Amino acid sequence: MAKKNEGEKLSEKLLFNFPNIAKKGTKDVKEAERFCRGYKEFLDLGKTERECTAHAEQILKKAGYTEFERGNAYAAGERIYSVNRGKNIIAVTIGQKPLTDGVRFNIAHIDSPRLDLKPNPVYEQDELAYFKTHYYGGIRKYQWGVTPLAMHGVVMLKNGKKVEISLGEKDDEPKFVISDLLPHLSAKQNERPLREGLKGEELNIIIGSLPYQDESVKEPFKLMALKLLNDYYGITEADFMRAEIEMVPAVKACDIGLDRSLIGAYGQDDRVCAYTALMAAVDVKKPEYTTVTVFTEKEEVGSPGNTGLASQCLEHFMEDLCEGYGARARDVYRNSLCLSSDVNAAYDPTFSDVFEKRNACFLNHGPVLTKYTGARGKNGSNDASAETMYRVIKCMEDEKVFWQIGELGKVDEGGGGTIAVFMGNMNVDTVDLGVPVLAMHAPFEITSKLDVYYTYKAFKAFYK
Ligand code: MN
Ligand code: MN
Repeated sequence: MAKKNEGEKLSEKLLFNFPNIAKKGTKDVKEAERFCRGYKEFLDLGKTERECTAHAEQILKKAGYTEFERGNAYAAGERIYSVNRGKNIIAVTIGQKPLTDGVRFNIAHIDSPRLDLKPNPVYEQDELAYFKTHYYGGIRKYQWGVTPLAMHGVVMLKNGKKVEISLGEKDDEPKFVISDLLPHLSAKQNERPLREGLKGEELNIIIGSLPYQDESVKEPFKLMALKLLNDYYGITEADFMRAEIEMVPAVKACDIGLDRSLIGAYGQDDRVCAYTALMAAVDVKKPEYTTVTVFTEKEEVGSPGNTGLASQCLEHFMEDLCEGYGARARDVYRNSLCLSSDVNAAYDPTFSDVFEKRNACFLNHGPVLTKYTGARGKNGSNDASAETMYRVIKCMEDEKVFWQIGELGKVDEGGGGTIAVFMGNMNVDTVDLGVPVLAMHAPFEITSKLDVYYTYKAFKAFYK
């Protein structure tokens, strides 16, 4: 090899670049492929926070986790879990060090943008039966038209019985759809700003077109739809007022690209971090620090409610856990380290002008460490300290995990937030880490298998 000149030597010493993992050989590609099979299944089996929680509980039980019992002092290596209202799950592996040395929190959210049914959703108009919806989270409404939808959720009947609904996922099950205009008649609609391409009150879902056969019925199309819903699930119109029903894309996770290097699926924000965190939790058997893996929800609407992280649901669990050891939760928090594990926007060559390329994250460059989120001058951001960045970067570099740095788009282009602020409020050192995503919040989001796999590796390194 030719001798390096001074400039090359100095460049090596002073400059830094994050590599493209795919250029580092094919071994990782194969391992990532294998890892992501379980991930795709996880996405298909958990399209709502409840389904995802139930599926995660099965995985944890299989891995030897038992339900947390208050007052117990669990020994190092013991594994417990706790479910909050069927929508959050917390998985704990007791570490070698005492709780008061701090724990390793890894928190991902398992809710995703979607269309919720209104409390009085069923109606008919001009001989078609419909559901009225109220969208949940930040969606680009026009993307949700003419895409097949499935119905998920729970209904509490008058007698207190809970009915679980899942319709439209299996190949032979009916699906649902929002209509949009044909190009021939959309000249006026085309003049609307894109954010009103479809308006909120136009997100009406077609659920039927056959009438109930009785001339005396005033709304036979609505009645027929309700009759069929009653046949399926034994529910009536009044039951929708005791229900949480979510309409989600009826698509399965699949490989994207000739090389199958990418995954296309609904709800990858943020179940991609949930799955990778869960697998890391299961695979790290004897952690130094107690690992606390949390699936939270309501993140897409700001984390309110008693299943969102702005509430005290996690603090209460931690207090219960501390009880068995006679420890104080606040002593645990101030020594803890937390990954707010959430996705970031991958650089998109087609829409390059919203990104600042030197500080954007790229597909196939690994999990992205996001020091701060926020908008309009870091407003509302946790903004991790230099010390926190040091600790998390060290975890990854010690284990030779590829990772990258990134922020969410150009300054003043937009912005966003995560649960990091709520962990900061608890006096826990926190930073965001997660998978770069293309078309985030769309009915069909795109990630790279290498990034998913390296996020799992980063979480393992964090827990080790
Ligand atoms: Mn997210
Ligand atoms: Mn999101």
